[in-house]
Order: sequence, then structure tokens, then C-alpha cells
Amino acid sequence: RKLKVGLIYGGKSGEHEVSLQTALAVIKAFDLSKYDIVPFYITKQGEWRTGPQLTAPAENAAQLQFDTAAPQGSTLPIPSLFRDSSPAVGGGAAAPSVDVVFPLLHGTFGEDGTIQGLFEMTNIPYVGAGVLASAVGMDKVMMKKVFAQEQLPQVVFRHFTRKQWEKDRPFFLMEIEVSVGYPCFVKPANLGSSVGISKARNRDEFIEAVEYAFRYDRKVIVEENVEAREIEVSVLGNDEPRASVPGEIVPSSEFYDYKAKYVDGKSAMIIPAEISEELSLKLQEMALRAYQAIDGSGLTRVDFFVRKSDQQIFINEVNTMPGFTPFSMYPLLWKETGVSYQQLLDTLIDLAVQRHAEKQ
Ligand code: ADP
Ligand code: MG
Ligand code: MG
Repeated sequence: RKLKVGLIYGGKSGEHEVSLQTALAVIKAFDLSKYDIVPFYITKQGEWRTGPQLTAPAENAAQLQFDTAAPQGSTLPIPSLFRDSSPAVGGGAAAPSVDVVFPLLHGTFGEDGTIQGLFEMTNIPYVGAGVLASAVGMDKVMMKKVFAQEQLPQVVFRHFTRKQWEKDRPFFLMEIEVSVGYPCFVKPANLGSSVGISKARNRDEFIEAVEYAFRYDRKVIVEENVEAREIEVSVLGNDEPRASVPGEIVPSSEFYDYKAKYVDGKSAMIIPAEISEELSLKLQEMALRAYQAIDGSGLTRVDFFVRKSDQQIFINEVNTMPGFTPFSMYPLLWKETGVSYQQLLDTLIDLAVQRHAEKQ
């Protein structure tokens, strides 16, 4: 019997379109003689839709969006999502059951543990990090506290909530100027894709940066600026994870901001990174430690800064659902390491099923 994989994509997030593109690529790469693919599309408004099982790669994103006005589309009530017991609301077709789900979602509600909680409650195997690892990996402050406990080197940082800032602004200004200094990076604690992040060079810019970051989150993190190369490592596995060769990102802007990531297409990826064997091994070892520190499973990309002046390594962050198109860093690093995109999909599905079996 073929394994039924529920592919979840779209989502109520800024990375909705990226997710659709990833879904197209993943469907194309899946060996359809081995898997049945059941599509689950989440609209930008957060409505869930499903359609018929896919028997061939989709030609375009529109085909994967199932307009509910169309006869094949239907809206699902969340509790019965992945089970076939109740007929779906709207279209009338029964919701298909699946053996494992593969969320291709980034950011809030996709990568932060919330949807993982839904999978746990419905007792369905799912690809990628669990609830805890996802949540820790999404919150830059929590992540840094976990890394600190593991003695992973990182830049100096401070954090505060909107309430604390409003109440004690002079204190935080002094604190930041004494311990972090300018320039510094100001970020919303819970986000990705560089949204809400700015580099502040002085007090005025800092205040502006803080207000800006608070538009996205009630908690802000401030970090010391480091003049560094950005090197990333892909990690794959459950309790015995493996690390890929490292790759380097060369941003097209002053830092790797949203535009440099998604808009101008001018940032470069250097795979493998042109670094010494010694540095490469050190980064891989640290990537695995970071992975185990957050209790990762499935996949994660671990991002580092390597300071230009003295080659000192700082861990920047982990991304538990990294960019996953065939042209993204995560799969490309595995390709360079000897794991094709298709093998990567097989492995991720196996890991999801294994983890679920071990819990039972
Ligand atoms: P996101 O989760 O949104 O990717 P990051 O923390 O990775 O957020 O920051 C986005 C980018 O900003 C990084 O890739 C890097 O280019 C730059 N950056 C972030 N923090 C620092 C820092 N402390 N020093 C120098 N550059 C930084
Ligand atoms: Mg991130
Ligand atoms: Mg990043």
C-alpha cells in the first residue's frame, strides 16, 4: 500500500506565496509510485481547503488553491482535518485520511509549534520539529537562553517587552548603550524572513528601530552588531542527526534583509562555503549541538556568524522550517553532501513515521 502524505501549504503568513512554490516543487519531486499526495491548502485568511488526491504534478499554484466555488473544493472543520470519519463542510466530498502530514509552512502558525500541537492532538505523524523545538526555535530570546545553557558562543544581547520599554525607557537606553553599543540589531523576538529587523547606529535610530519592531511583537531583542560572514549548516535526523557541508550567504544589501532574501534575487549562495576544513568541522559540530539543545527532529538549518576580523564563531539562529524549494540553501546543502531532493523527502517522511512510532 502506498503511503498517504498530506501536504500542507499556503498559510496565514507573509510567506504564503513561497509556500505555494515549495508545494509545487515538492509534489513534482515526490515519487508518486510510492506516495499518494493529498493537498491541504490554507488560504491567506486561514481557511483550510482540500481537494482530490494528486496523481500528477500540478502545473501551477492556482491548481493547488481549490476555489470553494469549484465543485471539487471543500472547506474543512479543523478537528476532522486528517481523518475520514466526517464529511467535509461545504463541498460535500469526504475529507481524505492521511498517514503522515508534511507542513510546508513558515513563520507564525507554521513553524512556531502551534500547528505541531494540532498534529499532536490529532495523533498524526508529521514532518519536522515537534512543539517544543518549534516554539523555542521561533522565539529568539528563548533560543538564545537555550544556546547559552549549552555554552554555544553568541553575541551580547538584551531583551524587553513593550510594557517594560514604556515604563523604563531611560534604563533600557542606558543598559543598551553600556552593554551592547551601536551599531546594534533590533528584532521582534518571534518572527523570521528579517521582517521588523533594523540596524541602529545611534540613539535616535535605536528608538525608531524599537518602535518598529514592536509593531510585530510585544517582545524585542537587541543584539551587538558583528561584522561577519554568514555561514549555514543543514541538519537532518531525529535522535542521531547528521550535519551537511556548510554554505555561505552573501547578502546583496548591508545585511540579509527581506529584500535581499526574496525581492532582488541578487544575494549569492556559495556552496560549499570556502572555509578551512577545521572551521567547517567546528561549525558542523556546533550545528549538531544546537539541534540537540532545542531537542530538534526532522530538519533544521543552523545559521552562524563568522567574524571577519578573527574568525570567531557566533551562533545566530536555528530555523526549524527553513526555505525548502529546490533552490533553497537547506536542500542545496544536502545535495552537495550527497542527498538529492527526492532522497531528502523520503528521509523526512521516514523520520516523521519513526518518531511517531517511538512515541506510541
Ligand atoms: P530572521 O530570523 O528573520 O532571519 P536573523 O536574526 O537571522 O533573523 O537576522 C536577519 C539578518 O540580519 C541576518 O541574516 C544578518 O544578515 C543580519 N543580522 C542579524 N543579527 C545580526 C547581528 N547581531 N550582527 C550582524 N548582522 C546581523
Ligand atoms: Mg529565522
Ligand atoms: Mg535568519
